[in-house]
Amino acid sequence: MNELLPIFPPQAGSRRPLVIAGPCSAETEEQTVASARALAACGVRIFRAGLWKPRTKPGGFEGVGAEGIGWLQRVKRETGMYVATEVATPHHAERALAGGIDLLWIGARTTANPFAMQELADALRGCDVPVLVKNPVSPDLELWIGAVERIRNAGIRRLGVIHRGFTSLDTSRYRNQPVWAIPIELHRRHPELPIFCDPSHIGGRRELIAPLSQQAMDLGFDGLIVEAHCSPDEAWSDREQQIDPRTLGRILGELVIRETAVPTENLNELRERIDKLDDRLLEVLAERMRVACEIGRYKKEHGMPVLQTRRYEELLTRRTAQAAELGMDREFMRSILRIIHEESIRQQMQTIDEKRDGGADR
Ligand code: PEP
Ligand code: MN
Repeated sequence: MNELLPIFPPQAGSRRPLVIAGPCSAETEEQTVASARALAACGVRIFRAGLWKPRTKPGGFEGVGAEGIGWLQRVKRETGMYVATEVATPHHAERALAGGIDLLWIGARTTANPFAMQELADALRGCDVPVLVKNPVSPDLELWIGAVERIRNAGIRRLGVIHRGFTSLDTSRYRNQPVWAIPIELHRRHPELPIFCDPSHIGGRRELIAPLSQQAMDLGFDGLIVEAHCSPDEAWSDREQQIDPRTLGRILGELVIRETAVPTENLNELRERIDKLDDRLLEVLAERMRVACEIGRYKKEHGMPVLQTRRYEELLTRRTAQAAELGMDREFMRSILRIIHEESIRQQMQTIDEKRDGGADR
């Protein structure tokens, strides 16, 4: 049985977050051991270091490969930490398992490829190492869940997921957009999977590690996987997002952990109010759809086209401004109106079609 069992998977009521920390890449034996020692001194129990590095372009530092396994074994011996690395091919998996690596994670580019995932799952079949699956680079929840299923079908029981953000054209704030709704939906559908946040790859910048970690805790994430390096400014990969172990210690110490296991009466009362408001919202929406269908019939009888862009533009402008006055986000209102409008048009088209085949008169 793999030794990590006492801390992974985290048990109900265990202290959050479970932290995995270490450099993006193992670069030299000295850098690996120095980073690990400093992290152990901050109380980190699981050490991460990439041995095989998926780089966007060839010619960069692609990791030290299997040579680093001995360095991780030394980290285990000298600090007592568990060690974790990324595997992307059956060869990596075999080497890591033979070298006694305690926990494996699967990177975002690998999760995105079902062939690679299946080959990895086959290579891991029958072993009892815990595996964490990062989200794929694109915001595709089904692809993420599918990757987890392949590993689960290979008999791996200790599974978890890592949210590391999604590739986007907009990199002005985040290296990878968090799109929190996706990991939240995954957690809703698979509450049995411990969920980690990787603020380093989401943020891509040191100053975002603290706020992203706090957000993850506020959303009930179980753990964090953070890139920390003994000399971040000299790191051979992902330099801008690595922090030194002392900074990590400070960030962890400042996290506010609001426990979910203490629902109060007040909270229940607020939830009841939300439920009542949702009832009203649904009734109003249903009525709006009925009126939209009536409009559809009217347009049909008077030979008018269903889509009237001017009216829609006016409605968007007026209602987004009104939303802002009411303290809501304009973009939020724009998305809601777009969805409602799309459904109204669909309903109107249907009304017209029914009339055409006589359905509505039957
Ligand atoms: C990493 O963790 O160093 C890494 C390569 O991450 P990702 O797969 O999220 O890009
Ligand atoms: Mn990295």
